[in-house]
Amino acid sequence: MKVLVINCGSSSLKFQLIDAESEQCLAKGICERIGIDGSMITYAREGGEKERKVTPMPDHTEAIRLVLEALTNPKTGVVASLEEIGAVGHRVVHGGEKFAQSVVLDREVLAAVEECNDLAPLHNPANLIGIEACRKLMPDTPMVGVFDTAFHQTMPEEAYMYGLPYEYYQKYKVRRYGFHGTSHSYVSRRAAEVLGRPYEDLKIIVCHLGNGASISAVKNGRCVDTSMGLTPLEGLMMGTRSGDIDPAIIEFLANKEERNIGEVMAVLNKKSGVLGLSDNLSSDFRDLEDGYNAGDPNAVRAMKAYCYRVAKYIGSYVAAMNGVDVICFTAGIGENAPLVRTSVCEYLGYLGVELDQEANGKRGQDIAITTPESRTTVMVIPTNEELAIARETVRLVK
Ligand code: AMP
Repeated sequence: MKVLVINCGSSSLKFQLIDAESEQCLAKGICERIGIDGSMITYAREGGEKERKVTPMPDHTEAIRLVLEALTNPKTGVVASLEEIGAVGHRVVHGGEKFAQSVVLDREVLAAVEECNDLAPLHNPANLIGIEACRKLMPDTPMVGVFDTAFHQTMPEEAYMYGLPYEYYQKYKVRRYGFHGTSHSYVSRRAAEVLGRPYEDLKIIVCHLGNGASISAVKNGRCVDTSMGLTPLEGLMMGTRSGDIDPAIIEFLANKEERNIGEVMAVLNKKSGVLGLSDNLSSDFRDLEDGYNAGDPNAVRAMKAYCYRVAKYIGSYVAAMNGVDVICFTAGIGENAPLVRTSVCEYLGYLGVELDQEANGKRGQDIAITTPESRTTVMVIPTNEELAIARETVRLVK
């Protein structure tokens, strides 16, 4: 079966067509600036040239129509007709407490997803628009929703409750949910597979370090804690997001800078993290690494604080699980920044971590980066959220 995987944002839409048997990506691309002037689609079949076409996309239905046209194009497409696409898997950001699993999308389920919109007002409505657009153009093709929050629904109450009046949980479901669940699930399972050990026997910590970053504790195959909370702002320091701060800072800054809460929140989401801490040097770790190596104090400050916080979270999850067998690094920074991995591992002597510097310099493979003598295994596992969504989709459709 061929599965179309869709990750739909408010003005962009990423897609991949995956062959479920070989697990190969056949074609992929992105539609950008949907509903804005200058919209364009970028498309490439596996091993082929990237094509970019600037073309009007007033809405998501038109974007999906262009995606389907590209996939079935007689010259550059990869399927002869839409009938070859057996199912569509959609990334959905927030499933609240309703969805602890992926689910086949029907009218009733979509109404339940819509009820989660309050919890992710920037993401869920866009995900739903993408689903509706697909349903319009492929009414007979089964659709599956795969939630970013689902994997974390196994967290125990003591991990997901905030120290707030309980009525806010009862009335509004204010609690910690966690995100990047598809990645944490894929990477932790893959680590067990690569090591040839039963997933159910392991204590695994996954550090998903991308532009957004989160870390999770997976004990005996179940997530027991994760660093993001009600929203993806909590936890690690990120590219532009602050991560954990004293909540009183919000009122303090609002008073000092004469701004309202919305404006301060925009600073915490878009101008903070390593971008803010490096005094606007960059949110991109390629720039920060260059700066760090050149001794730029702004880069050094941001890099040190970033790695310190990752190490501190690892320590807290070792405590939460009463030990750890495997620590995994994944996503843009986790997979590509050996300096970040080395700096984090320098804090982990108490876990008997001994890095293998040669392995740590490799890229693009599932690999242990510790020596065989290391008491705790540290690995790099490239994440593949699209493949994980395709697998879930096939599992449910079959
Ligand atoms: P993601 O959100 O997983 O796509 O990660 C994006 C981030 O990964 C970028 O903002 C960079 O900070 C980081 N990144 C990507 N490639 C590299 C690289 N070669 N070296 C260091 N950081 C990288």
